[in-house]
Amino acid sequence: MKKVCTTCSNEFTIRPEDEVFYTQVDAPLPKLCPDCRMARRLAYRNERTLYKRPCDLCQKDSISLYPAGTAFPVYCHTCWWSDKWDPREHAMDYDENQPFLEQFRKLQSKVPRIALLVIDSVRCDYTNNAADNKDCYLIFASEQNEDSMYSRLIMRSKQVCDCAFVYDSELSYECVDCRQCFKCLYSEQCQSSTDLLFCFDLRDSQNCIFCTNGRHMNYSIFNQKCTKEEYEQKKAEILSSYESIEQAKAEYSKLKAQSIVKYATATKCNNATGDYMFNCHEGVRLFDASDTKNSSYMADSEQPIDCQDCNNVYYKPELCYDMMGILQTSKSKHSIYVMYSNECEYSDSCYNSTACFGCIRLNQAKYSILNKAYTKEEYDVLKQKIVASMVADGTYGTFFPGDMSPHGYNETVAMEHFPLSKEEALARGFRWQDISTGTFGKETVPLTGMPQTIAEVSDEILKSIFACEDCGKNFRVTSSELQFYRRLGLPLPRKDFECRHQARMSKRNPRKLWSRTCMCDKTNHTHEGECPNVFDTAYAPERVERVYCEACYQAEIA
Ligand SMILES: [Zn+2]
Ligand SMILES: [Zn+2]
Ligand SMILES: [Zn+2]
Ligand SMILES: [Zn+2]
Ligand SMILES: [Zn+2]
Repeated sequence: MKKVCTTCSNEFTIRPEDEVFYTQVDAPLPKLCPDCRMARRLAYRNERTLYKRPCDLCQKDSISLYPAGTAFPVYCHTCWWSDKWDPREHAMDYDENQPFLEQFRKLQSKVPRIALLVIDSVRCDYTNNAADNKDCYLIFASEQNEDSMYSRLIMRSKQVCDCAFVYDSELSYECVDCRQCFKCLYSEQCQSSTDLLFCFDLRDSQNCIFCTNGRHMNYSIFNQKCTKEEYEQKKAEILSSYESIEQAKAEYSKLKAQSIVKYATATKCNNATGDYMFNCHEGVRLFDASDTKNSSYMADSEQPIDCQDCNNVYYKPELCYDMMGILQTSKSKHSIYVMYSNECEYSDSCYNSTACFGCIRLNQAKYSILNKAYTKEEYDVLKQKIVASMVADGTYGTFFPGDMSPHGYNETVAMEHFPLSKEEALARGFRWQDISTGTFGKETVPLTGMPQTIAEVSDEILKSIFACEDCGKNFRVTSSELQFYRRLGLPLPRKDFECRHQARMSKRNPRKLWSRTCMCDKTNHTHEGECPNVFDTAYAPERVERVYCEACYQAEIA
C-alpha cells in the first residue's frame, strides 16, 4: 500500500507484513514515512549536548541535558531517585473535555526530569543514555563497558577511546564499526582481529597496516606480506608524530575509496535490508542492529523480537512499536525511556511498571493513567475512552509531536541523521535551542604550542586548556586519557570531543537506502558480462567505491 507522508509529503510503502504487525499491536496505519517517524523519536534524544545547571532539589551544580531556566524541574541523579519526592504527587484526573496529549503536556511541565540518564553504573558521572558501565567518561548510548571514554555506541568493551559503534573490543582507538577487536587503531569494519593500524574490512587478521578487504592476514602492509621487523618499523614511523598520523589518515582514505564494498555491512543476516547489521533475520530498514528477529524500521537495536519503529532498544525488547530508549521492555508503544516494563503507552521515564498510559517517572507502578493509580477494571475502561478520543482527534498511533520534546531539535540525535535548518525544524513543529554549550577563547596553550609526540607531554598538561582546531571550543585532557595515550604511544588530539565524534560519523553511511545494481564486471564469476544483481544499499549512486552484491563480494574477498 502506498501513502503520502503528512510531514514531508514523500510517498512511502506500507508492506503487507507491516499491516499484519499493526493489527498485532493494535495500532492504526502510520501517517508519517519511516524517516519522519524516526526523526520524531530521535528529536526526544539529547545524548551529548550537556550544560551545567543546579539541581532543582538539592541545588548542587550538576551536568545536565537541560540548560538552566527550563519550565520543568530538573533533578540530579541522586535526588531524582530519592524518596524526597513522589511522582504520584503530580497525578492528574483525566478530563474528557480536553485533548489527552494536552493533559500529558501539563504533567510533563510538573514532573522533574533527570539531569543525565545513567542506569546502574559505577563512577560514570559524565555519561548519558548509558547503562551498566564502570569507570567511563563521556560515553553515550553505551552499555556494559569499563575504563572507556569519548565514544558513542560502544558495547561490552574495555579501554576504548574515541570510538563509535564498537562491540566486544579492547584497547581500541579511533575505530568505527568494529567487533571483537584488540589493540586496533584508526580502523573500520574489522572483526575478530588484533594489532591493526589504518585497516578497512579485515577479519581474523593480525599485525596489519594499510590493509583492506582481507581475511586471515598476518604481518602485512598494503596487503603485501612483510616481516615482523618491517611491520614494527612502519608502525613506529606512523605513530612517531601528530603530522605522520595525519599523513597516514590521508593515505588510508585513498585506500578505502579504492576498496571493494559489499552492498551492506551484513554478517549472518537473512532476508534483511539496511546497513551495519549483525545476525539479523527477516526485516527491512535495519541500521546498527544486532540479533534482530522479525523486526523492521529499527536503529541502534540489539536482540529485538517482533518489534517495529524503535531506536536505541536493548536487552531483548519484544512486541514494541514506536519506542525510543528502552531496556527489556515488551508490548509497549509510543514511549520514551521506559525500562524493564510492559504494556506501557505514551509514557516517559517509567521503570519496572506494567500497564501505564500517559505516565511519567513511575517506578513499580501498575494500571496508571497520568500518574494516577486505578484498579485493572477502571484502567481498562478509562484507557479505552482515552484511545477513542485520540483516534477522534487524530493523535492516536503517532509518536508525541515534536514540540513536546524537552529538547531543541538541534540538541538531539535527530539533527545528526536528519539535519534541518532552524526554519525547517520550526515549520515541522520541533523546538530549537539557541543557547550554546562550552567555552571559547579560554585556552592556555595555543594550537602552535601543541606537542608532536606523547613523549614530550608531562603531567602538567592536565592543567592546560586547549582550543579545538575546527570549532575553537575549549577542551582539556583528563588523567585517564593521558594514561591511555601514553600506553599506546599516541599524540594528544587537537579537536574537542564533538568534532572528533562528527569526523568519525562522517566515515559512515547514512541511514538511507538506494536501489542499485552490482558494479562487478569480472569475467571469472558466474555472471556473463556485468553482474545483473540488484540490491538496496546505503552507498549513494555517486559514491566512488566499487559496490558488489553478496556473491561477487564473497568471490573476491573470501
Ligand atoms: Zn516523511
Ligand atoms: Zn540533587
Ligand atoms: Zn571542535
Ligand atoms: Zn554481483
Ligand atoms: Zn561478479
